[in-house]
Amino acid sequence: MPQTVKKEEANMEKNNKQTEKKQKRSYPFYAVENPVEENRIHVFVETLGAVLKDEKYKLLLDLYLNTCASCNSCAEQCHLYQTTHEEKDLPAYRSNLLRSVYRKYYTTSGKVLGRFVGAKALEESDIDAMIESFYRCTMCRRCAVECPMGVDNALLTRIGRCLLGALNIAPKNFTLSSTQELTGIGNTSGIPKEAFIDTLDFLQDEIKDMTGHAVEFPRDKVGAEYMFIAPVSDYIMEADTLMGTAMALQAAGADWTIGTSFYDAINYGLFYSDGITSDILNKLLAEAERLKVKKILIGECGHATKAAKLFTDVFGKYKFPVRNIMEYTAEAIEQGKLKLNPKVNTETVTYHDPCNLGRGLGIYEPPRDIVKAAVMHFVDLQPNREKNYCCGGGGGSVTVQDLHDFRMNLAGIKKVEQIKASGAKYIAAPCANCKKQLKELVEYHKLPVTVIGVHDLLIKSLVF
Ligand code: SF4
Ligand code: SF4
Repeated sequence: MPQTVKKEEANMEKNNKQTEKKQKRSYPFYAVENPVEENRIHVFVETLGAVLKDEKYKLLLDLYLNTCASCNSCAEQCHLYQTTHEEKDLPAYRSNLLRSVYRKYYTTSGKVLGRFVGAKALEESDIDAMIESFYRCTMCRRCAVECPMGVDNALLTRIGRCLLGALNIAPKNFTLSSTQELTGIGNTSGIPKEAFIDTLDFLQDEIKDMTGHAVEFPRDKVGAEYMFIAPVSDYIMEADTLMGTAMALQAAGADWTIGTSFYDAINYGLFYSDGITSDILNKLLAEAERLKVKKILIGECGHATKAAKLFTDVFGKYKFPVRNIMEYTAEAIEQGKLKLNPKVNTETVTYHDPCNLGRGLGIYEPPRDIVKAAVMHFVDLQPNREKNYCCGGGGGSVTVQDLHDFRMNLAGIKKVEQIKASGAKYIAAPCANCKKQLKELVEYHKLPVTVIGVHDLLIKSLVF
């Protein structure tokens, strides 16, 4: 056979293989509409290079990517690995996916010695493995607490997700919700301003009907001390939490307001993109600036609080002190501004530490102080505080419906065991994402417990 024909045939075979590869490539729920198909390896490696130079990450990545004793202490802490015992769920395996690329392209020893020093040229199959692995980790940081070398595998997961984002790979739900929040109607649930204001009026009426007290949801008050903002989904799903919150703020004599130009604290950027984190945060800060408030008060939600508390100094065009509502309410109780009557809540109540509030921000005691003041019987989950298990829906996975089976049967199993062992009739979970996951776990596993928010307990117990 002439050489040219042979060459053509070889080329055809190569092209066919590439086409086949493209056709086989599927992004179950991860893809946005136009995933990058060409030069993925080049784009990924170049983006990693840019992240390594980023002042925010430079020092941390230098530590996390160069350090790992392969002791697998992190595996013993990971709720997912402890349930699946699969290699792909080992925290260090996941981080090594990133580490090996870093070593190959950005260290001299990796360039020279390759696999001998854990370096590996990035292949298409590695990217596919990362897609699955980085979105199985719930970014709970439980592994980080016990790492003897101080490695935070959750941060590496986030960086990995950001790098995949450069290939336009992210859960559709993240990207659609973020786009909706940043453009068009301006919030993740698509609630128009008029409907939002109607909801505030409705909640005021509900409080009056339930308690006999006239409680206001003040709006667009210029110069107030606090601008209160919660995930907009709370206005649909968690009315009791918001009613308890308004009651607490009014009873404590807070000078507060809600903005009606931007009223959604959800920030999915926290889970996959610095750019989105920054854009959403700046919409929130711009609303506080418009209202000329002194401070920002975030609702109970963990990820919303973490995004605002941690990133205001990093990305914020305007600077405001940020507090979580539970810090405010616990302080008001301690200062005697709020009186609660625990005798009206007689069932045993437990508390779930959301990863973003607990390990993320160290907010452990304020929620407990509120719950303990509001109920007769409080019992802690075991383990708790910094050792608490993730609900199984962290890292934004709770919003991905296609991950339902994964969340119910794998990621959430440790939480189910904890709840069963507590014997509690109610579990107070402040975070909107945790509440959704816990409610689904309760229904799926038929657990004899009701999921509530922390401020829900104030509706009955608050003494005006
Ligand atoms: S962050 Fe949580 S889910 Fe992810 S590896 Fe660590 S313990 Fe496991
Ligand atoms: S605990 Fe830390 S040092 Fe040990 S394997 Fe995990 S990341 Fe590496």
